Amino acid sequence: MKTYCTIQDLERSQDELTAWRRAIHQQPELAFKETATARMVADKLKAWGYAVTEGVGTTGVVGTLKAGSGTRSMGLRADMDALPIAEQTGLPYASRNEGVMHACGHDGHTTMLLGAARHLAATRNFSGTLQLIFQPAEENGIDCGAKRMLADGLFERFPCDVIYGMHNHPGKPARTFHFRSGPFMSASDRVTITVKGIGGHAARPHQAIDPIVAASSLVMALQTVVARNINPTQIAVVTVGSIHGGKAMNVIANEVTLGLSVRSFDAEVRTILQKRITELATSQAASYGATAEIDYGLGHPVLVNSEKETGFARQIAEELVGTDNVVDNIEQVTGSEDFAYMLQQRPGCFVRIGNGVGENPPLLHTARYDFNDANLTVGSAYWVRLVERYLE
Ligand code: ZN
Repeated sequence: MKTYCTIQDLERSQDELTAWRRAIHQQPELAFKETATARMVADKLKAWGYAVTEGVGTTGVVGTLKAGSGTRSMGLRADMDALPIAEQTGLPYASRNEGVMHACGHDGHTTMLLGAARHLAATRNFSGTLQLIFQPAEENGIDCGAKRMLADGLFERFPCDVIYGMHNHPGKPARTFHFRSGPFMSASDRVTITVKGIGGHAARPHQAIDPIVAASSLVMALQTVVARNINPTQIAVVTVGSIHGGKAMNVIANEVTLGLSVRSFDAEVRTILQKRITELATSQAASYGATAEIDYGLGHPVLVNSEKETGFARQIAEELVGTDNVVDNIEQVTGSEDFAYMLQQRPGCFVRIGNGVGENPPLLHTARYDFNDANLTVGSAYWVRLVERYLE
């Protein structure tokens, strides 16, 4: 009978994986500067027999391993970058790179995938092609690592029938797995609207076109987008977070700038939001004789987990840690994540692994956060088993 990886198979590597994770934690590197981390990853993969391609999407690394005669392929992705945060954990292995910190657990994500990589190379208990994707710059906003790797031909050069990623989740018990099929993390767009009028003397408004009046009207009109244009069963947010214009009370300004944050969980809703915000800005400004310049910054898209691949991923978690440690249908996350771009091109799932509970579990992107090393072996074993079962 064929057997598959269990947690016990990885447990003996706990100390070593912990050492790797803490070494990465000590030398955090910002987006597209992950050169030492990428070198460490590439060196290990080469030593274990992977075909390694470096410099994919700037500092990304892809390790390819083929076994058996299977024709299927799968990609597993881990992110490698850190954040511009000054660490305050006081840990012996705290960041030695001042002002830079692994405050999102990407050190742990990279280590879990490395742990799996070594085990898979040693056992080769699968048939097909495995692509291990170590991605840079998840935290870099619009110019992110996922986009650059895809633009660098990621899926053409390294074929993947399916793609999986994993992220830790503070506030959920360590060594537990969490899933949600369908739209899981939000799209987050930033819009800058510049309403341009004609400045003048406050005492002679008839000779000017006042952009403050036009912008004020626009702020109110924007409140109708969610209320009147979006299906009430859908989620959307339009927030005008900043408004700047004018310097003196006796002067009519030339222009006013509005900054908007726009969030949604559905591609169609996102399109409607863009269309209505653009239409309202243009037409409201025009109705006052002003004009609107719109810079619509599309951030990461909605992250959508495909149903079949999410069901499969959940099944593997249940096999590995038992149904008591697996939660289905967890609530949607309002953060965004660039793995969404990969999921736009291939079916797959973004898996969450609990990072621990306790009194005040330090949150992601905060100075006291630390990845939970108790997850390293179970996370590695999960990846191994997912590969063994998908590439049977
Ligand atoms: Zn992250």
